[in-house]
Amino acid sequence: MSQNRPIRSVEELPLEGRRVFVRVDFNVPLEGTKVTDDTRIRAALPTMEHILARGGRLVLASHLGRPDGQVKPELSLEPVAARLAELLSGGEVLLTDDCTGDGARKVVGDLRDGQVALLENLRFHPEEEANDENFARELARLADVYVNDAFGAAHRAHASVSALAALIPERGAGLLLLKELGALEELVTNPPRPYLAVLGGAKVSDKVAVLDALVAKANALLIGGVMANTFLAAQGVPMGKSRVEEERLAMARSVLQRGRDLGVEVILPEDVIVAESPSADSGRATAVLSIAPTEMALDIGPRTIASYRERIATAGAVFWNGPMGFFERPAFSEGTFGVAKAIAACPGLTVVGGGDSVAAVHQADLADRFSHVSTGGGASLEFIEGRKLPGVEALR
Ligand code: ADP
Ligand code: MG
Repeated sequence: MSQNRPIRSVEELPLEGRRVFVRVDFNVPLEGTKVTDDTRIRAALPTMEHILARGGRLVLASHLGRPDGQVKPELSLEPVAARLAELLSGGEVLLTDDCTGDGARKVVGDLRDGQVALLENLRFHPEEEANDENFARELARLADVYVNDAFGAAHRAHASVSALAALIPERGAGLLLLKELGALEELVTNPPRPYLAVLGGAKVSDKVAVLDALVAKANALLIGGVMANTFLAAQGVPMGKSRVEEERLAMARSVLQRGRDLGVEVILPEDVIVAESPSADSGRATAVLSIAPTEMALDIGPRTIASYRERIATAGAVFWNGPMGFFERPAFSEGTFGVAKAIAACPGLTVVGGGDSVAAVHQADLADRFSHVSTGGGASLEFIEGRKLPGVEALR
């Protein structure tokens, strides 16, 4: 069964003297021509250094932003090439003018062992997102070996992650991708128990499938953020001016019902921090049943933080996605940082996924106290849902 065929690690692939095409996730935040956060570039360093140390010729490819299939000079990978050259101590990084065509073939063809080329933004071509076979064939002309180390793009069936992999028999996963899959797979197949899911954030609609999966898999769900507002409203709690996803009330009720049927606790905040506006400098703690019509819930309250902390302390595994409140404002950040600290202190398997939740973990300087901090928001959620990721399946 091709579905169960194991994935090879980059460490098992022939690399010396080979052109090793590595799909990386260098979709980093930029300000003008400066990379403002190089976490994703650094996360791919172990794979890049492994290939270079074994005498491979590195051909790196990534997307950056959403140029929608057009050449947008402000989304050039040039600032990334500059930052990468600094990180690969002493190494030169040759940026091609386009990811396919004569120019790219010339740069890649001239590479010597241990040298590095970076292909220009893949999404300057509409064929990338269309998973176009001919475009993939053009990319394949630049590669003897294919490695995917872009977990953040693994849930997209795009040419550089899907069609291209199928064209190159010598293919495998990079070290970052393997680390991601290892941590997440344990949660999906055999989580140490009790397994707690801490879910919050604002995008409830994007998280329906993950709620459905976790209510069947975890032992308890601890809810915060706009997600909690929506669940409380679904139970008839007057939420004042709080952000609530009205069109998800029925979904919330069905998750609560499934939790009851399966014996899985779905735990909602008992108190919240409210204010009349998100720009208020401070809020007040109140029981959820006493939110005034002019107020909005912007964080979980101190009693809720304490009770979530207590449960997290004895968990065998914790998966966290979504901030507990409007944590960008200090007045409403205690829930998110309190939960982050509690998970960091938990001796079990602890995994965080999601752009804003991961940002909160970094902000609190707690990243190295988690078992795993996922570099892929959407991809980590899809994996937790139990879905197959196209970029992973293509490596089998
Ligand atoms: P993630 O990126 O971790 O998956 P989301 O994108 O779903 O998380 O949600 C993050 C956003 O949710 C943050 O900007 C945060 O301010 C917002 N948020 C969380 N709780 C609340 C709340 N009670 N009221 C308003 N915004 C909230
Ligand atoms: Mg987000």
